[in-house]
Amino acid sequence: MQGKIIKGIAGFYYVNIEGFGIYQCKAKGIFRNQKIKPLVGDNVLIDVIDEGKKEGNINGILERKNELIRPSVANVDQAVIIFAAADPTPNLNLLDRFLILMMRQEVDVIICFNKDDIVSENEIIRLKDIYKNCGYQVIFTSAVMKEGIDSLQELLEGRTTVVAGPSGVGKSSIINLIQPEANMETGNISEKIKRGKHTTRHSELFYVRPGTYIMDTPGFSSLYINEVDKEELKTYFPEFYEYNEECRFIGCQHLSEPDCGVKRALEAGKISPVRYESYKILYEELKNIKKY
Ligand code: GDP
Ligand code: ZN
Repeated sequence: MQGKIIKGIAGFYYVNIEGFGIYQCKAKGIFRNQKIKPLVGDNVLIDVIDEGKKEGNINGILERKNELIRPSVANVDQAVIIFAAADPTPNLNLLDRFLILMMRQEVDVIICFNKDDIVSENEIIRLKDIYKNCGYQVIFTSAVMKEGIDSLQELLEGRTTVVAGPSGVGKSSIINLIQPEANMETGNISEKIKRGKHTTRHSELFYVRPGTYIMDTPGFSSLYINEVDKEELKTYFPEFYEYNEECRFIGCQHLSEPDCGVKRALEAGKISPVRYESYKILYEELKNIKKY
């Protein structure tokens, strides 16, 4: 039977077989000689050993579409990054860092601003405008008013999505709306999982509907993009691309160089000053990193 690994703890893999439930599996022998180790998100073939106890063996891993390092998960289709439109005030530089980290891993990002019930229409337009030229899909939700949740659900349909965001933005509220039985479902296997509980944080996929999975990730308050070269940073700002060619210098960093197409576009209001400011901050930060 084919299923998907939703969690791995202490040598056990929890494999969801749609329509049948979650099986506690071991990856026996066959992987010993292979470099590949099963990952959360892997689509696997299992032999059911005991249907009553829901136990099985993994005997094959299907080809991976991709493999994220942070969080550690395979076959991710996209990420949803949730910020609050207000309370807490969105730290857009932090958002830009996340966009860079996902772009590095070639994962598409949907930006979700939650709590849109407590901000003005103007603020919504302002946020939308900042990201509209960057090629990201931007949606607005209110978990409290249950607004925008259907649109979000549609975007998740049939995909595996990593859900991330700082604490306090309403990420848990949204996840509970997406799948009200979330807690119950994990409850079913919690007894088995408890045994391995004292190990550190684990990636866990959460089964929403056939073909649809989400991975909740711990709230973060800072992100480091240290592995990016400062010269390479501009490539993570897609809205700069079309003006690159208008720069006088090849390799223009769009900072203090004269006759810069990107700065002209900025002055003409075609590039968001918030994004450009973010670029400058990140560039300075990367410049000051000692590379050993
Ligand atoms: P998390 O830390 O991101 O998981 O956020 P929670 O879901 O725990 O929510 C943090 C706080 O924000 C709680 O007090 C929620 O009631 C509140 N909250 C969540 N979503 C909304 C929303 O759409 N609008 C408003 N006004 N408050 C919200
Ligand atoms: Zn330039």
